[in-house]
Amino acid sequence: MKVPFLDLKLQHQPLRAEVLAAIADAYDNTRFCLGRDVEEFERNFAATFGYARALGMNSGTSPLHIASLCGGFGPGDEVITTPFTFASSCWGISYVGAKPVFVDIDPDTWCISPEAIAKAITPRTKGIVVVHIFGQPARMDEILAIAAEHQLFVVEDCAQAVGATYKGKPVGSLGDAGTFSFYPTKNLGACGEGGAFVSKHTTVMEKAQLLRVHGSPKRYLHTEVGFNFRMDGFQGAVLNIKLKHIAKWTARRREIAAKYRAGIKNPNVQLPVVPSYGESVWHQFTILHPRRDALRAHLEQQGIGTDIIYPGPMHLQPAYASLGYAKGRLPVAEYTSERCVSLPIFPELTDEQVEHVIASINAFAG
Ligand SMILES: *Cc1c(COP(=O)(O)O)cnc(C)c1O
Repeated sequence: MKVPFLDLKLQHQPLRAEVLAAIADAYDNTRFCLGRDVEEFERNFAATFGYARALGMNSGTSPLHIASLCGGFGPGDEVITTPFTFASSCWGISYVGAKPVFVDIDPDTWCISPEAIAKAITPRTKGIVVVHIFGQPARMDEILAIAAEHQLFVVEDCAQAVGATYKGKPVGSLGDAGTFSFYPTKNLGACGEGGAFVSKHTTVMEKAQLLRVHGSPKRYLHTEVGFNFRMDGFQGAVLNIKLKHIAKWTARRREIAAKYRAGIKNPNVQLPVVPSYGESVWHQFTILHPRRDALRAHLEQQGIGTDIIYPGPMHLQPAYASLGYAKGRLPVAEYTSERCVSLPIFPELTDEQVEHVIASINAFAG
């Protein structure tokens, strides 16, 4: 039986006629940059998940850049973050000339460790970039307590966590700014690039809105150096349609995760922990195994696609060699990177496919 790691066609085929009609309407009415489709999406996105407002952007990286500017990060500042993430969680810090300070992760949820954050605070610390990795909410109460004590600006990178909650509240609404990506492989994916920015502070939303379009509060007036981070009209039209399905897709991801958690009995496998404080949206279902390359090869033979997310933690990436982190410095992140393997978990998987993955992992004796 074939079980691809991800097959995006299965999500897009049933929506084809509806999506193409919406794109045609945007085309016929030349709503190409922001415009009505994007505004509707911003309202629907905010209402669906419980944000006061949302701003559509052109990627998940742009809102991270804007968050750094809203936090006032700049040269000489240190911003604490996790090494176990996709690179662009850190780019926002670097774009404004601040220094990422990588600290270790929790061994059960693989999110940034609040205890490690507390130890890394210096007089130069200006903020924290939290990542709700794989859709799993981080320990926000502990993180926010540290931030309050030291007056730090907290950014939540929710690129993998659209719909996830922490103690009943939507991720991205707890810290000072929240960022989302609608890259096609994310839980809510555009047909191209996209992202969003949220903040519980009106002043932060106003600044983000200004920076999104050329620092321009009105036509040809520029009050600060801005960017072009507008969302495409086509993507707003697509996302409006997909948003109607996200609850059902998330429910199916949770169902598959529950099957994996109940069914995988291989004693060498470490399963992801579901923290009692929140609800994951299972962007990835990642397990650890001491011989993960052999496990991957075995699964490949059984027709099962897997991926390594992420093989190289950010503190050891060549891009950050100048920061001088030696191997062994952040042992939990390194241990996790060496052993992690992500299993197929997209909503269109059949129960038979899920059972095949479980049986194949349990049959692996290596
Ligand atoms: C995908 C992703 C991003 C960036 O999103 P883009 O839309 O590709 O710019 C940022 N952070 C994390 C954790 C991601 O997974």
